[in-house]
Amino acid sequence: MRANIRRNLLHRIVIVGGGLGGLRIAMGLKNKGYQIVLIDKNNYNQFPPLIYQIASSGIEPSNVSFPFRRIFQGCENFFFRMGEVLFIDEKEKAIRTTFGTVHYDELILAAGATTNFFGNAHFEHNTLPMKTVDDAIHLRNTILERLEMAETEDNPEHRQAFMNIVIVGGGPSGVEIAGALAEMKRTVLPRDYADLDASQMHIYLVNAADRLLSTMDKASSEKAEKGLKELGVEIMNNCMAMDYTNSQLILKDHTPLTSKTVIWVSGIKANTIGGIPSTSIGRGARILVDRYNRVKGMQDVYAIGDQCLVEGDELYPYGHPQLAQVAIQQAANVAANIERLQNDKPMRPFSYNNVGVMATIGRKKAVVEIGKLKFGGFFAWLLWLIVHLRSILGVRNKTIVLLNWMWSYLNYKQSLRLIFRPKEDKENSLP
Ligand SMILES: Cc1cc2nc3c(=O)[nH]c(=O)nc-3n(C[C@H](O)[C@H](O)[C@H](O)COP(=O)(O)OP(=O)(O)OC[C@H]3O[C@@H](n4cnc5c(N)ncnc54)[C@H](O)[C@@H]3O)c2cc1C
Repeated sequence: MRANIRRNLLHRIVIVGGGLGGLRIAMGLKNKGYQIVLIDKNNYNQFPPLIYQIASSGIEPSNVSFPFRRIFQGCENFFFRMGEVLFIDEKEKAIRTTFGTVHYDELILAAGATTNFFGNAHFEHNTLPMKTVDDAIHLRNTILERLEMAETEDNPEHRQAFMNIVIVGGGPSGVEIAGALAEMKRTVLPRDYADLDASQMHIYLVNAADRLLSTMDKASSEKAEKGLKELGVEIMNNCMAMDYTNSQLILKDHTPLTSKTVIWVSGIKANTIGGIPSTSIGRGARILVDRYNRVKGMQDVYAIGDQCLVEGDELYPYGHPQLAQVAIQQAANVAANIERLQNDKPMRPFSYNNVGVMATIGRKKAVVEIGKLKFGGFFAWLLWLIVHLRSILGVRNKTIVLLNWMWSYLNYKQSLRLIFRPKEDKENSLP
């Protein structure tokens, strides 16, 4: 297999991962006299903060995914290749990928993070993660299929297992999907599944910490708990999930929770790529970098976003939070530093400008923290809506999502609750 990217005299910058950080860096360096090679496992950029809305049938996958080839149409000296980067050969200044070898002058790792099942094979194989658009489509199909199965199930215990949903993880993703599913139970279930008793559907939110949204202010946690309880979510704080077999989630105090649908949003770890010295890997498999995002112990290799851990920032001694703004700001700084170096100017260290955090609670409430300003409720949700709408790529996508939100706000009658099962590509799966 060949990468088929002809080398020219331009400095070649290879970017691994076109997520929030990788895309921003590619945008920052395009048409600036470099040869840019962007490699991603998918042929599209995805916007993770809205993935939970795909899982809960609120928006279509295509509304928050944008094809790289479209974004960079007409860009000179830009190459996109779809494939997985497996290994870095630092001596040869090359990476090994599923489609062949690609040489670099400078390499930027922006491959993000993946779900952490903490080594438990039952969690990994039997629960449903919600990290990518693929995960979210699978989750949506599973939730809808379980409801269809509940409709035709005579055994009341089995029916209950089909109807119950357990979410493990009380961070923003857990809170947001719990709220969205509770809205679905309240508004969709009685209309679409009139033969099921909606009151029999339980949505449990299992959280190991003593409060939800533990990285936010206590007042925000309380607002989130109150809002979710009002929607009917059963919150179980100080509860550690230990195992999941035979549709039974086992908690630390040995209580079993019966459900065929367990959503796992309990932790992440950085995506790994071979060839990085083990001494350069820190907590959560994150790649250790300096304040300029240069990988410790490597030459001409940077890492940004969820995949890295910046050492030496006294304000963040344990590394920055794995958030969109961190990835985006690091990308902008690295792009500017590469240009500064080309112009014989000194590089600038990365400093994180915390612009705030927010999480939705159902379809018309949110909690927001911007510096000292902390508030919740409808206006927080409006702000969340504006911020996220601005971040979605493409005018068409922005318009569709806004219309969808307005429609669902008014009556929750959008018809996205379809179960599509993609067929396996037999030809490509032949050995
Ligand atoms: C469900 C969910 C909700 C979130 N909500 C929020 C939120 O509300 N606010 C917030 O600030 N943050 C949120 N985050 C976190 C935020 O999305 C991440 O911090 C951010 O996306 C990190 O950007 P990144 O560029 O480092 O990685 P990503 O955006 O994850 O991009 C990584 C890219 O690398 C590609 N890739 C991975 N491995 C390889 C490989 N080996 N070879 C080639 N390509 C590879 C992937 O396909 C992907 O495109 C959320 C995350 C999730 C999962």
